[in-house]
Amino acid sequence: MNKDGHVLNAVLLGIGLGIILNPKPEIATALSVLEVTIPIVLGAMVPDIDTAFGKHRKTLHNLPLLMVFYAFPFYFGNLEFVWIGVLTHYVLDVVGSKRGIALFYPLTPQEYSFPTGVATSSKWAMHVTVLITVFELAVIAVIVHYQLPVQDITDAAAAFL
Ligand SMILES: [Zn+2]
Repeated sequence: MNKDGHVLNAVLLGIGLGIILNPKPEIATALSVLEVTIPIVLGAMVPDIDTAFGKHRKTLHNLPLLMVFYAFPFYFGNLEFVWIGVLTHYVLDVVGSKRGIALFYPLTPQEYSFPTGVATSSKWAMHVTVLITVFELAVIAVIVHYQLPVQDITDAAAAFL
């Protein structure tokens, strides 16, 4: 997927996640959206840095890098939610584009993709991007509502006010 597709995906995902985490119509919801959207957009920009440094769709498009971003907040206490941007970038490249990515790089340069992908220049690219984003938000909503105590998260977000 190209850059505007990744930005659109990340912004919509951030807004949706912020609302899922704090579904009440209040100031805390706007803060929740802001809190997750900016790190997700930044994370979604990271993988394509390998268009300038390294091998595109390999060097920064792999699961070891995702694990680094996932683990980072546990060790250093910052960059929360950035891993979600990296992950959604991977999902969009694997599911939404024809070429796929080298998930296990540097172990293997093999690129993996789904047959659902369209060419990044295709007129369908934006439709596919929005469709994937809706699917991702549905998955997140299920995860949040069935595994996390939403009220605690809401209360925690409200405590920042
Ligand atoms: Zn990419």
